[in-house]
Amino acid sequence: MMDFTDEQRMIQEMVGKLSREKIAPLAKEADVSGRPSPEILRILAENDLFKMALPEEYGGIKADYTTIALVVEEMAKVDASTSMTFFPTQAVIKILDRWGSERLKRHFFSKMSEGDKVCAFSMTEPNYGSNASSIQTSAILEGGYFRVNGTKCFVTNGGIAHFILLFVRTGEGEKEKGISALLVESGNTPGLSVGKQEDKLGLRGSDLSELIFEDARVPKENLIGRAGGGWDIFLDGGSDMR
Ligand SMILES: Cc1cc2nc3c(=O)[nH]c(=O)nc-3n(C[C@H](O)[C@H](O)[C@H](O)COP(=O)(O)OP(=O)(O)OC[C@H]3O[C@@H](n4cnc5c(N)ncnc54)[C@H](O)[C@@H]3O)c2cc1C
Repeated sequence: MMDFTDEQRMIQEMVGKLSREKIAPLAKEADVSGRPSPEILRILAENDLFKMALPEEYGGIKADYTTIALVVEEMAKVDASTSMTFFPTQAVIKILDRWGSERLKRHFFSKMSEGDKVCAFSMTEPNYGSNASSIQTSAILEGGYFRVNGTKCFVTNGGIAHFILLFVRTGEGEKEKGISALLVESGNTPGLSVGKQEDKLGLRGSDLSELIFEDARVPKENLIGRAGGGWDIFLDGGSDMR
């Protein structure tokens, strides 16, 4: 059996109570509407849940994956959609913390510390799901920017995310050797638009969207890790997430 710390038990209890008392009454309406509930997003933000994984100096508690899993479980007991909305934000923070440059972390973490920011993790494309190492969305370095072209699909939080961890083909080599990871700021990226929002059978209160990049410009400083190093980030982040 797993032993939890006092802090983990306290968080588990707090999130369980919050979920039962505040999220459960809103879950059905979000499910029927097929969209995340703005009210639930506000509750998560007000209770500092989106920034849990941030380092302490940015207002987080640097939550580990065990703590994050406890939170996901408590939310999912009343509304799996809310846990789906919550989780990618923690995963992206943890990946940035491990792989991002100090400059990128400072920029991203200070925005995330506002508490109401949501993240998405975007690998899947219409023709490449399980076969992720073949993705085609391209990013070509031109001066101070990557020019990004392609379509991503099935992006949890894609339509509501402020930041997107985006996997692209930068072409240093074949298949996984030519993939890089970029941090995309959705409100500050000309050429990025949200496409189809999936009308799902389940998890209807969680956003699942298409993202379309048409000559989108992403600053070269938003490269995470090294060019061609995206697959390592995907495997490392992905196995932690699972
Ligand atoms: C609710 C939901 C949320 C998601 N959120 C995200 C997200 O936030 N970010 C993101 O990037 N993606 C996301 N995805 C996409 C998800 O990662 C893909 O659906 C997944 O990678 C599978 O890809 P696919 O749907 O194209 O299925 P396919 O790859 O076409 O697979 C279909 C079936 O074929 C099987 N199969 C595939 N290849 C083989 C093989 N070589 N041998 C034997 N069997 C095989 C698979 O196991 C599966 O059963 C989400 C999907 C869902 C449903």
